[in-house]
Amino acid sequence: MASKDPVPAASALSERPSRAEAESAIRTLLRWAGDDPDREGLLDTPARVARAYEEFFAGYSKDPVEILSTTFSEVEGYDEMVVLTNIRFESHCEHHMAPIIGKAHVAYLPDRRVVGISKLARLVDIFAKRLQIQEKMTVQIADTLQQVLLPKGVAVVIEASHECMTTRGIHKPGTSLVTSRMLGAFRDDPSTRREFMSIISQKHGE
Ligand SMILES: [Zn+2]
Repeated sequence: MASKDPVPAASALSERPSRAEAESAIRTLLRWAGDDPDREGLLDTPARVARAYEEFFAGYSKDPVEILSTTFSEVEGYDEMVVLTNIRFESHCEHHMAPIIGKAHVAYLPDRRVVGISKLARLVDIFAKRLQIQEKMTVQIADTLQQVLLPKGVAVVIEASHECMTTRGIHKPGTSLVTSRMLGAFRDDPSTRREFMSIISQKHGE
């Protein structure tokens, strides 16, 4: 199934640089920072950073729509809210490539289709393991759920701390950014929204 995700998968990029090119770029950054990439402590750093990048950005090689659409089941009759709270994630901001660390709360009101809760966490991870801005990631998670599960509504709330704000720039540790996207019943029905907000605030800080 084709994804509507505006972020291209790495496989869609025409010329992915080689591993050796990536490592040489990291050597350049080490020199630019003022250090000597040939000193003993840094010899293996380019290879380690490249491997870390494979982990940080593993989401480019995965299709979130496919993950959900191959695993949902058709369920008649279950129409209560499904909520997964405190899904911890690590992402990187697309402006500074600095870590964004936070948690996502994801809910939907099923119509016919449901997925296992581990898939909700996978979905968050696939979008987190890309270069992101938090607002975009919030929309991508909500819209993908809406598109595949066709539920009566979707709610996504993300709270995260941005290391580009805490360790550089204006240096404001302890701040967290909260973003949300409410679709369908979560947007239109105040009691549904209240139920969701009350569940996530009970779980808050656990
Ligand atoms: Zn940033």
